[in-house]
Amino acid sequence: MTLRIGCIADDFTGGTDVAAAFRRAGLRTALVFGTPDATTVLPADCDAAVVALKSRSTPADEAVADSRAAQRWLWTKGAAQIYFKYCSTFDSTPHGNIGPVTDALLDDAGATVTLHCPASPPNGRTVYQGHLFVHDQLLSDSPLRHHPLNPMTDSALIRLLSAQTPHRVALIDWTTVRRGVDAVRDALTAHQQAGVRHVIADALTDDDLAVLGAAALELPVIAGAAGLAEGIGHAYPAQGPAPAEPLPREGRAAVLAGSCSARTLEQIAHFYAAGLPSLHLDVLAAAAGRDVTGEALTWYDAQDPDRPVLIYASASPEELAAVQAQLGVAEAAAQVEELLGGLAARLTDRGVRRLLVAGGETSGAVTTALGVRAVLVGDEADPGVPWTHAGTRHGDLALMLKSGNFGAPDLFTRALATTTEGAE
Ligand code: ADP
Repeated sequence: MTLRIGCIADDFTGGTDVAAAFRRAGLRTALVFGTPDATTVLPADCDAAVVALKSRSTPADEAVADSRAAQRWLWTKGAAQIYFKYCSTFDSTPHGNIGPVTDALLDDAGATVTLHCPASPPNGRTVYQGHLFVHDQLLSDSPLRHHPLNPMTDSALIRLLSAQTPHRVALIDWTTVRRGVDAVRDALTAHQQAGVRHVIADALTDDDLAVLGAAALELPVIAGAAGLAEGIGHAYPAQGPAPAEPLPREGRAAVLAGSCSARTLEQIAHFYAAGLPSLHLDVLAAAAGRDVTGEALTWYDAQDPDRPVLIYASASPEELAAVQAQLGVAEAAAQVEELLGGLAARLTDRGVRRLLVAGGETSGAVTTALGVRAVLVGDEADPGVPWTHAGTRHGDLALMLKSGNFGAPDLFTRALATTTEGAE
């Protein structure tokens, strides 16, 4: 099997986002959770494979080691080109990890130059004169300046990246990008000959990213957010839209929610208001030793098998604060992950074949509990929220893993109602 492109994403939900972008560009795309090894099996005939790591905020040497291992694995699968996916807000610090990881990938590939563009126009992320904007604000004026892990107080990408690499960084400006693919290629060559290793490109629109993708087709390593990935995908010889993966026709549907994000709370409220069965898990009772999982399964067994169910730990800010005050943040998280991971395994044992999971950490707990290491990416229900297909010991499982704040308020009801109708 030969991949056209191998991608390394620096976090799990970023992996889903970039995998959805490759698929929109018509590539049959697999998503692999965590550093793969010799036993990791990809779905057949993929054009693109995304390895989703947790390397955004880990120490730089760990991020480098994990990324190099992922690159080596992608090469064993035949990947001709490597895409390093980071956040569209360039989440990093002067210590990394974007600079050190990109340098290590270039060193191993024997490459002397790479193209960077974090723009993601549908999400309001654009780059102009090397400055990163979030909608109408410079990154450094946006709420990202208060990010809890990587506060972004500078918007100048050349300055940001120069602090993270000993190599030279330079810009291809928007005027050049607008002149088209040949102009960008010439500018890349000129920078390369002048000893520049990291070339940042401006982009305001998806068309600009398509130009950059076509100009970067021959580079062994490219870096950016999901937008440039889609541009690259479109630049590969036309393969038409990736065929739709049929959702399982049999089996029950469930939502497991562990996210406390505002959007997930809205989605839960929408599901409840639609009159569908939902159950809140009592995390404090579980911590006190009550068999909350057994009670949830008894409740599940009593529901109408033709209707989707929702089981959630998600809590309002007040409830979350109260539980964390009593158990501690780490213990509360461990309880929630054990409850929802365990329920995912027990529900699939009981015949659930369509499973929607809300929350980044929660998604990690569920895939681990199900033993799912790689999935095939299917249709998107909302931007950046695709259905995926996982091979499990029960056969094909349609799995939707969404970051807490993703998806429209009606996502739960719409995604599961659509699939139910599709199965009829
Ligand atoms: P998001 O994508 O919104 O960040 P995550 O699943 O990554 O969602 O994180 C949600 C966090 O909230 C998890 O660490 C989870 O353990 C915690 N959590 C969820 N429900 C509760 C609850 N009822 N009490 C305490 N912590 C909770």
